[in-house]
Amino acid sequence: MAAPSASAPLLRSHPHRRSLFPSSPCHRPAAASLFGLPPRKPASSRGLSYTTVRSSSTTSPSAPVEEAAAAPSGDADKERVVLPTNESSDRLLRIRHTCAHVMAMAVQKLFPNSKVTIGPWIDNGFYYDFDMEPLTDKDLKKIKKEMDRIIRRNLPLVRQEVSREEAQKRIEVLNEPYKLEILESIKEEPFAIYHIGEEWWDLCAGPHVESTGKINGKAVELESVAGAYWRGDEKNQMLQRIYGTAWENEDQLKAYIHFKEEAKRRDHRRLGQDLDLFSVQEDAGGGLVFWHPKGAIIRHILEDSWKQIHLQHGYHLL
Ligand SMILES: [Zn+2]
Repeated sequence: MAAPSASAPLLRSHPHRRSLFPSSPCHRPAAASLFGLPPRKPASSRGLSYTTVRSSSTTSPSAPVEEAAAAPSGDADKERVVLPTNESSDRLLRIRHTCAHVMAMAVQKLFPNSKVTIGPWIDNGFYYDFDMEPLTDKDLKKIKKEMDRIIRRNLPLVRQEVSREEAQKRIEVLNEPYKLEILESIKEEPFAIYHIGEEWWDLCAGPHVESTGKINGKAVELESVAGAYWRGDEKNQMLQRIYGTAWENEDQLKAYIHFKEEAKRRDHRRLGQDLDLFSVQEDAGGGLVFWHPKGAIIRHILEDSWKQIHLQHGYHLL
């Protein structure tokens, strides 16, 4: 038998024993799948399903930890909401993509000197990067209001194909240097342009909804703004990235927000502080955990129990 190395597992199973934790055929989708990790679900599944508690959906993310424990747990209080994904719903994908353009149009209406760059759909929504002055939360509210106006006007999204020369000419008229750079990096011709009504257009291959009115403004929210370097390179210009979330209907948005709040309340970094379990000191390194007495005893109990269970099932400690 080979000598154990530093990287050998602490526990090793008896060669003739079955795995202690066989994979269960009825496991529920991982919560993390709602936040971008590939969902582990059968191919026939149309979306992600989880249970949301309606009665506490307005709870603030900063609510004390005790409230999470006190949340109703009876099935009668729960309602199942299936959240579609970009993969399971073509309509949702189109909504999110269109939202990115609608947001860019709104930003340029409110901030005429802003320059557009890229705006893809992402898990749970969309974002768009702008070269402009730093934005505040108040600005986000104004931008959302302008988006609602554009949505209410039910402007058609019209696709047009143009040559490289034509696209370049039109972008130069608008004085959009980033778009020009994007155009240069695209090899295929002709280029697709999408117009929103007759006031605004963007270089894009689609797909989108037929008109802005197909977006439910109450199912869209602007979530945050962050700095992002053009093309992810710190030597480039710092841009303003606005993140938004968009869903097919209000119920889906509510369920998503509720889930996000619950995830925040269960964030181990927050619980570690609130319950005086551990702390992380940036001076020592972000990944180094300093156990406090309460946390250390919990850790000891868990590890002890984990070892006991393994020993009971015929594993050896190594
Ligand atoms: Zn698009």
